[in-house]
Formats: sequence, C-alpha cells, structure tokens
Amino acid sequence: MSSTARIALNRPLRRLFDYRIPDGTTLVPGQRVRVPFGRQQATGLVVETDVTPPPGITVKPILSALESWPALPSETFRLLSWASDYYQHPLGECLFTALPVALRKGRPAEQKQVTQWRAIGDPAEVPAGAPRQKALLEWLSGIGKSASDQEIIQAGFTRQQVKALLEKNLVQANMTPAQPAIAPHPVHDQQSPTLSEAQTRAAEQLARPAEGFGASLLYGITGSGKTEIYLHYLKQHLGRDEQALVLVPEINLTPQTVARFQRYFGTRIVVWHSALNDGERLSTWLKVRNGEPVILIGTRSAVLLPFTRLRAIIVDEEHDSSYKQGEGFRYSGRDVAVYRAHLNACPILLGSATPSLESYYNAQQQKYQLTRLEQRAGQARPPEISLLDIRSRPLDGGLSQPALGAIRKTLERGQQALVFVNRRGFAPVMMCFDCGHMVDCPRCDTRLTYHRRDRAMRCHHCDYQTAATEQCPKCESDAFKPVGQGTERTEDVLSAHFPDTPVVRVDRDSTQRKGSIQTILERVNTGEPCVLVGTQMLAKGHDFPGVTLVVVVNADGGLFSVDFRAPEQLIQTLLQVSGRAGRGAHAGQVLVQTCHSDHPLLKTLCEGRYLDIADQLLAERESGQFPPFRAMAIFRAEADTMEKALQLLDQIKPMAQTTGVEVWGPLPALIARRADRYRAQLVLNSDNRKRLNHVLKGICTHLDQQRLPGNVKWMIDVDPQETG
Ligand code: ADP
Ligand code: ZN
Ligand code: ZN
Repeated sequence: MSSTARIALNRPLRRLFDYRIPDGTTLVPGQRVRVPFGRQQATGLVVETDVTPPPGITVKPILSALESWPALPSETFRLLSWASDYYQHPLGECLFTALPVALRKGRPAEQKQVTQWRAIGDPAEVPAGAPRQKALLEWLSGIGKSASDQEIIQAGFTRQQVKALLEKNLVQANMTPAQPAIAPHPVHDQQSPTLSEAQTRAAEQLARPAEGFGASLLYGITGSGKTEIYLHYLKQHLGRDEQALVLVPEINLTPQTVARFQRYFGTRIVVWHSALNDGERLSTWLKVRNGEPVILIGTRSAVLLPFTRLRAIIVDEEHDSSYKQGEGFRYSGRDVAVYRAHLNACPILLGSATPSLESYYNAQQQKYQLTRLEQRAGQARPPEISLLDIRSRPLDGGLSQPALGAIRKTLERGQQALVFVNRRGFAPVMMCFDCGHMVDCPRCDTRLTYHRRDRAMRCHHCDYQTAATEQCPKCESDAFKPVGQGTERTEDVLSAHFPDTPVVRVDRDSTQRKGSIQTILERVNTGEPCVLVGTQMLAKGHDFPGVTLVVVVNADGGLFSVDFRAPEQLIQTLLQVSGRAGRGAHAGQVLVQTCHSDHPLLKTLCEGRYLDIADQLLAERESGQFPPFRAMAIFRAEADTMEKALQLLDQIKPMAQTTGVEVWGPLPALIARRADRYRAQLVLNSDNRKRLNHVLKGICTHLDQQRLPGNVKWMIDVDPQETG
C-alpha cells in the first residue's frame, strides 16, 4: 500500500494537506514537492510522512519531489515548527519564510551558472574577412584566463562574435557558478587592535561553544568595543569548518561594519539583508544550506536560514525593536535566536549598551550570564549628559540659545555636532492661528505632517499625501503656520545660523535612494566640521569619531505615553544617541532639551548608568504586572467599522477569560482608524506562558471554523513591542 504525506503550503491557513507519495519515492520532512492544488500546482514542504488521511477524503498524488534532500534541514524545521506554535502563526507561512523567493516559487535549488569562454585556437586561423573575431580571440588569448559574456561585451565585442568563434572551434565554453565558492580561511587582521584589559576580562566571561548552550548578556556602554570583542571571540572560538550567525539591526549593516568583519575573516563573511536581489539571496542561502563555514552577518530574517553547522550566535544591539517583525509572522529575531542556540547547544551573545528589560531580567534570574564593560575603548571617555530646561525659553527651530551657542563653539573648535529630532518632515502639524483648524489625514485618526521640501502634507501612518497650501483650507486665513519641529525645519534654522558649515540631514526621506546613507556617512567621516540633523537613524550604532556634541531637541515625547514600553525606548534612544558623542580623541558633551528637567528618569539619565535606570524601570513593570513579569499577547481585530472590530473581540473575550489569564479590553487602538480600517484590541496577560499559548490556540481554532463577515480581519501578536 502506498503511503501518505502531510504537506504545508505557503498559504495563510492553519491546516496541512494530505497527498499520496508515488511508489518508489521516499520523502523526509522539510523536502520540497510539487503538488496539485485546486486547478493549479503549488510548491509544498513535507511536514510528516506515513500519516493516515482522514476517512472519506480522496488523496491526490504528489507530482514530484523538487530535490532529493530536505530544503529545510531538521534543526531549521524544528525551529520553525516551534516558532509557528509560539507565535500562533500558520505553519506553512512560517516554513516558507525560511526559503528564498526563487525556491518558494518552485525554481531549482541550484546556483545560476555562468558561461566562461577560453581561447583554444590561434588568432591566425581566423579568416581574413572577420577582423573583430580575430581581435576578440587575440584579446582572449592575451588576458590569459577565461572571460564571461559580460566581460566580453564590456571589452567591446559581441555575443555573435563569440558564437562564430565557437563554431570554428577556436574557443571553448566552461560553466561555473555565478559566484565563486568561498575559501574557508585566510585571515588578515594586521590592523586590528589588541583587546584592552577590560575587554579581555569581559571576553573571558562569555559562554563558549565547548560548553554547549549558554546565553551571555554583554552590557557594554556605547563605544566600549563590543564589536571588537565579537571579532576576537569568533576568531578564538569558531572552528574552521563551523558556521556563525551575527544578527544586527538593518541600519547597522553598513559597508564599514562588513569591512571590519572582512578584515578578520576575509571571504568567510556573507551578508543577508533586505537590499539583496533574488539571485544573491539564493546564492547565500545555498552556501548556508551546503554547510559552507560562513560567518553570516544579517538582519532579522537571517535567524531563519538553514544553517547546518551553527556553533555561535551573536545578537548586536539586542534591545533594538526592529528585531520584532511588525506584520504577518510576528516573530522576534532575538528570541528565536535564543531558542536556536538551545537547539544547537551553542552559545549566544546578546550585546547592547542599553539591554532590553526582558534580557536584563533574564540575567537577574540567572538564565543569562551578565558581563559588564563600563569603560570606553582606546582613549575615549563617556560623554557628559546634561539637561537643558526649555520652559519659557525662546526657541528657534526648536533650538534654545544655549544649544545654538554650544553648536557654534563645537564648530569653531573644528569638530562636528549632531542634532537629534524625533520627527521627519518640516513640522508635525499645520495650524490656522485664526480659526484653529488643523489638517487631519482623511483616512486615519492622525494629523498630516508638513514636508516643505516637496510642498506636501503627508500621513506617516498610511501613504496619503496632498499638496500643501499657503492659506488655511477652511477659512483662507494667511495665518496658517507650521507648529512643532521636524528635521527639515531644524535643518533650515541651522543652515541660516551656520551658513559656512555643511548641514547634513539624515532621515527616511533623505536616505531613500540606495547607497545614500553610505555617501552621507563617508562625508561625515572625513572629519570636516559639520552639523548632522536626523532621526532615530542617527542614534544607532554608528561610529562618528568627529562628533563631540549631541543636542536632543526634545526628550519629552516618551515620558507620559500610554505604552508601557515608552519610557524604556525613550531612555534607550537618548543613551544611544548620546553615545555618538566623543567616540574619538576629544571628550563628548550631550545637551538634552526638556520641559521636565525634574523628572526622575531624566535625572538618572544624566548619571549615564543604564542598569540603574533599568532597575527603576523593572520595578515599575513589576508593580504594573507587565512583561517580563507576565507574558502578554495582543489579539487585534480590524474592520470597515469599529463596531465590527469590537464585536469580534467581544465574542472571543469569554474564551480568553479562563483561570490564570487576565484580559484587558476590547478597546479601540491608539490610532483607531488607519488607512480607513478601524482597529481594536484585546490584551491577554498570564504568568503561565503555556496556558496563554493554549488559550490563543483555542481561539484560533474557533475562529478558523467560523465564517467571519467580509472585511473583518484578526491577528495575534505574542510579546508585542507596540501596545497602542
Ligand atoms: P561598540 O561596538 O561597543 O560601540 P566598537 O567595537 O565599535 O564599540 O569600538 C568603538 C571604537 O573603539 C572603534 O573605533 C574601535 O575601532 C575602537 N576600539 C575598540 N577596541 C579597541 C582597542 N582595544 N583598542 C583601541 N581601539 C579600540
Ligand atoms: Zn483657518
Ligand atoms: Zn493616513
């Protein structure tokens, strides 16, 4: 009797499909197959074999196996199955997330081959009537190696000329992979510094591959040389034929970072990020799957790659909120990495100058081992942070006189200043001073941001935009003015104050073109005096040795937010942006403008000791019974009316209200309407994660069996980063 396999498809369905295995074919979990699906065919992944199909179902046969080996090796497969259950996301979509697009579509799992042409005949044999063919053969013989079509065209010849030579048997074609396979060694690190005493001490405390699973939280202040420690660590502990994964936030994966790793590990370094094209993705994926001894530096989704010899994981800036996927399969790259280290019985290093409260708590609970590195590397000293109360001070572009004065002095000394503004655009609102009108987004419950550079009013929550007007659209008054600060406005004011100094703006608008951030960073790294103005983008991980002054235009945004994570995120951002000051030979100074200079959180910030602040914040989390003291999941509903969204949540609320689970809501989301969709949420809390998982599963099963009114959507967010 022929046997049956259970197959996952790349569909948002919480179910699997049974197919008959053709005689003579053996399949293992993780293997790609081609199956009939409806009237079409689909790529599937084997989940289980030798299953018994439910009675009364006609089981269609699998058409073919796409390769004889599992695209997802068993460890990757287990990881994704675990994540599917933990995050309550359909298994099929989770598994397919780990495949590059080409493989999801069923293309062959092999690298594109490139034809290389080599001269095998004498140019004298080319007939006199074909001078270009002769020239091509001379060129090919001259370069002493084979050349690709592309190289031949670049040298001024054509494909037809190569073909003509091939017909005359004067050239030969060889097929080679598009990218050369990497060599496992050599390491050239003459330029790298030796670790300081403090770094060495920290490095010695870290968990090691020989000891099996172990998680180390490396708390190292900004500029303390954490990256240098990672490099030494991998060099010392990673075997020649082993793989390592280094996760970084998107913005940190700059050519400078990659170059630093390449100086140690040469061609062993491969990268994984959103800007790779499909071919590059496939090629890197295959290297990882083939077990080549790569050290892969990548962003969030790199944690799902099919490693087969993973022996060390590093998560840099482990607190960064970009590790949590915001839509679809809402996994945390950092948390999945910790589980993966478990599966591989290998160490994981979580590094940050501002560790997440979750990781810090784990360290306090002895689940992670805490290593502290509290001095800066080389000559650099930690910056001095002070608060600048701006109540009743006149401001120009958001900047007070003392702040402008400090920028002037910095530039006069030939140094660089960085001004941090938390909003892009010119101003967050336009307001009429006659009638009080403010311009709302017609599709969301938010205001439009004024972008003066392109005379537009834009919504930062949907893609709505409209032309900016000179007069109030309601009463036509001329007293229609921007209110508040955005990067563009601060840039204008700084350019007016310092006409002879370059003012460089860094935000999502100014860095949209590929490579533009690199150009900006290179310019700053020449060390010429300049003022950098920017958002979050500037706060993260960059090494600007010339910056000695950081000005924070307004620190108050996160102090009184309803989101329980807001104070943590505010302090992390402030300390990270402060950390850009004084990384070189000169001391750094940080001025934080605020209307709440007596706020206890800001006062502790000035002392610069993050763990003290973290203790304070953790105490607040504990009294509110927020994560990490309890597990949290948010059940979100979205519909074309608020009633429908709330109705769905009201319906499931009784299912969630079981012993050990506390339910808040349903309530409209902070931005209740977004892109014309109404959003509401139910928050589930429990000190028993298993129970919470069980409840979520029950609700999913219940909802899957129902026909919901059209236009109603629901989703689950386990360990949410944003609770609005
Ligand atoms: P972090 O990752 O903690 O922000 P980095 O590793 O980027 O710190 O180090 C900050 C700066 O100090 C870099 O310019 C780096 O080259 C330099 N640095 C790190 N370790 C040393 C050392 N042992 N000696 C001299 N300079 C060092
Ligand atoms: Zn008006
Ligand atoms: Zn909008």
